[in-house]
Amino acid sequence: MNEFPSEFKLKEAMCDVGRKIWLKGFCAGNEGNHSYRIGKDRFLCTPTGISKGELRADDLCVVDGNGKQLAGKRKRTSEFLMHAAIYKARPDCNAVIHSHPPHATAFAIAGVDLPTCIHPEAEVFLGPVKTAHYVTPGDTRLGESLLPYVKDSNVILMGNHGIVSFHPTLEQAYYNLEIVDAYARILLLTKSLGSVRTLTSDEMTELVQLKARFGIPDPRAEDAKKGAIACGASDYVSRVNTESGMRGRMMGDAGISAVQPQNPLERAIAELTPNQYTEADIEQLVQIITNQIMAA
Ligand SMILES: [Zn+2]
Repeated sequence: MNEFPSEFKLKEAMCDVGRKIWLKGFCAGNEGNHSYRIGKDRFLCTPTGISKGELRADDLCVVDGNGKQLAGKRKRTSEFLMHAAIYKARPDCNAVIHSHPPHATAFAIAGVDLPTCIHPEAEVFLGPVKTAHYVTPGDTRLGESLLPYVKDSNVILMGNHGIVSFHPTLEQAYYNLEIVDAYARILLLTKSLGSVRTLTSDEMTELVQLKARFGIPDPRAEDAKKGAIACGASDYVSRVNTESGMRGRMMGDAGISAVQPQNPLERAIAELTPNQYTEADIEQLVQIITNQIMAA
């Protein structure tokens, strides 16, 4: 059997994914790494210290499941051991991509979980996405930090760091990276509009039942069979609602609300505040006083 042509094609596919990652702005400089299972205990992975936009087939490394380099003129990425931990925990997955898509990474840095019960595509392709705690990049503990979440979704946010996506196919592992960043971007835009409608328990149950018909696993499948998926409050939704409550009444070029504040505290501050104060100043003042009242 001539193995070379297929391995070469897989290397080309790895380079294509690298170019897409770079063109999308998911990795700056030499950031990120990806790998592909090409045989029993044999993986292609990206080398260290190269832009993912400039990868060529002969830049790629071949490693075993312990990260031992078997072939390639360049040194393998230092984060392959994180990939290896995922391959071990998810034998169904043949591709792992790690990168720093800015919108989704913003959630990982803010420590805000991506909410569920909001967007059908995110529910179908991603499911409940969790945030793993921060570990120094390249550290062997990085893989361990992902293990608690690796079976529930094909995407994990890495605290203060980025995203890891894994899937049976390289193509869908890449698409899930696009989907998670698009979802995070939609959430950030929605927040600026100041309101969010969450899906109802019935709507979510229908979605998860639809996933089951497509053969896509979801940790909530049993709840969906009973017709009982709970769509509770999330950190994200409470942030949108809290901030819109503040902001909606603090509009106007002069920094003073054009709409008469309804809250007695805000009304008192608006009356006492000189015109040269900006909207941001007033908002900060309201926040400080609110915090003090809540603390008391
Ligand atoms: Zn990284």
